[in-house]
Amino acid sequence: MPYVTLNLDTCTACQNCLKACPMGVFAEQGDVIAVVEPNQCIICRACEATCPSGSIVVED
Ligand code: SF4
Ligand code: SF4
Repeated sequence: MPYVTLNLDTCTACQNCLKACPMGVFAEQGDVIAVVEPNQCIICRACEATCPSGSIVVED
């Protein structure tokens, strides 16, 4: 099962991952970005590639 982690200590809430993910894994929650649907992840790694701060790690 895919495991998606987002490091809130380094995330700048730029929303790149939210826009890049084809499966709606990320969502805005208040003023932070959260992993809301990890089970939908297809491990395309678009989020890792687009994150400017290296805050996302996807493991399969
Ligand atoms: S690896 Fe792809 S499907 Fe999974 S969270 Fe990242 S962008 Fe979404
Ligand atoms: S792309 Fe990276 S820095 Fe931008 S909102 Fe997502 S996790 Fe945060």
